[in-house]
Amino acid sequence: MFKEVILIKNGELALKGLNRRTFEEALIRNLKRTLTPFGKISVHREQSTMYVNSDDIDWNEAADRVSRVFGIATFSRSCLCEKDFEVIKESAAEYLKEQLSECSTFKVEAKRSDKSFPLKSPAICEEAGGYILERFPNLTVDVHNPEITVTVEIRANGAFIHGKPIKGAGGLPFGTSGKATVMISGGIDSPVAAWMMAKRGLQLSAVHFASPPYTSQRAEEKVRTLLEKVSQWAGEIKLYIVPFTDIQERIRDDCPEELFTIIMRRIMIKITQRIARSNQSSAMISGESVGQVASQTLKAIACTNDAANMPILRPLVGMDKEEIIKIARSIDTFDTSILPYEDCCTVFTPKHPKTRPDLHSVREAEAKLNIADLMETAIKESRKEFIGK
Ligand code: ATP
Ligand code: MG
Repeated sequence: MFKEVILIKNGELALKGLNRRTFEEALIRNLKRTLTPFGKISVHREQSTMYVNSDDIDWNEAADRVSRVFGIATFSRSCLCEKDFEVIKESAAEYLKEQLSECSTFKVEAKRSDKSFPLKSPAICEEAGGYILERFPNLTVDVHNPEITVTVEIRANGAFIHGKPIKGAGGLPFGTSGKATVMISGGIDSPVAAWMMAKRGLQLSAVHFASPPYTSQRAEEKVRTLLEKVSQWAGEIKLYIVPFTDIQERIRDDCPEELFTIIMRRIMIKITQRIARSNQSSAMISGESVGQVASQTLKAIACTNDAANMPILRPLVGMDKEEIIKIARSIDTFDTSILPYEDCCTVFTPKHPKTRPDLHSVREAEAKLNIADLMETAIKESRKEFIGK
């Protein structure tokens, strides 16, 4: 058995100059929060590398969790052994045996920050390389383009050995960019939008509009499941479920049919903005993408934007559906998103929605609705819960 650690190299953080310390501290906090439920851990850093140590964690679970922590470019599972060269080379061959048996070329790289270690780096490479060659007849040395690099780091507190680095989630650590509130439907796009903005370091709250009995309990449950998935990267998410039935019926009854969708979307924005302000968010997030549906032409987006005076972040704005689906699959939201439950946006939809609405007439029709009281009630009666606690 080996003592294992996880070594983290934090890509984009290195670029952050003066903010670097804040970002690293946030990353350490996030690692601790994510991993503590699974074992007692400590994190320390040395130069540009962070070390996650634990005596009792399941390292498969730990690696899985670390792969979802934003702010990490790559990480490596590593074994830690005593600084005895015989032990080091045997540990390298043993610890990395699966990876080494699957490759055909390799090289050994040595970093010797403990200068008192008797073998110098070239000798470590040569001797450990020779030993691995003997044990793995499938391997030859390729110093320029090896399939696997076996890294041996001789440090003050021991020798670290690791193989192929694992790709991290990238982005910026949770919470380092402030807060935003995502408008979440049960569709494919908004969970992806939420994830993309969490990747930029935002802490998320979420607003979902529900219109029972036109929308079902299962549609709400679907939103919870989607947010659960997003929260595996984004941490805890505060969800507000806003009762939207009365408002939608009022719009259906009292405004020109072809403006139904655009006005409904404006009201959604206004309510979300109120909730966003109440939870200290500086922006809203939506899953819109230009041209995807009638309510997402540039004209329609201009009309909905006019209802807000807080930025609306639209990370998918220039993406094709295929690109969005690829991300949805990679964050495991796709299969849930395609379950066929009604969203309030598909209730009472007009046969011929205006694709080029005129802002002036939209504002006029909206003002005639006298809907402020219903909006107040909806906000007051919204239900709050925490997802991913
Ligand atoms: P999605 O896949 O995210 O549902 P969509 O392509 O179906 O998006 P629309 O239905 O026009 O597009 O919704 C556009 C955006 O409006 C969504 O991405 C989401 O941010 C927001 N939205 C839609 N329905 C709701 C809802 N019921 N509650 C909260 N926000 C919603
Ligand atoms: Mg939708």
